[in-house]
Amino acid sequence: MHALVHEKTCIRCGLCPSICPEVFSLEEGESAHAITDPVPDALRLDAQAAADSCPVSAIEIR
Ligand code: SF4
Repeated sequence: MHALVHEKTCIRCGLCPSICPEVFSLEEGESAHAITDPVPDALRLDAQAAADSCPVSAIEIR
């Protein structure tokens, strides 16, 4: 499983790192990005939940 943040779509709301900080990071002045690739099996559900919660659907899970 891979998580990809489309940087131009991300509005930097902070939701994905608050839901799954092990996979998503958001730093000052940048779009969110995945910090683990591939996503470990134990974090699949949390990563999917973060993707499902993104208000602009900027996270692609594949
Ligand atoms: S939830 Fe979506 S819009 Fe918000 S920081 Fe994460 S990728 Fe960006």
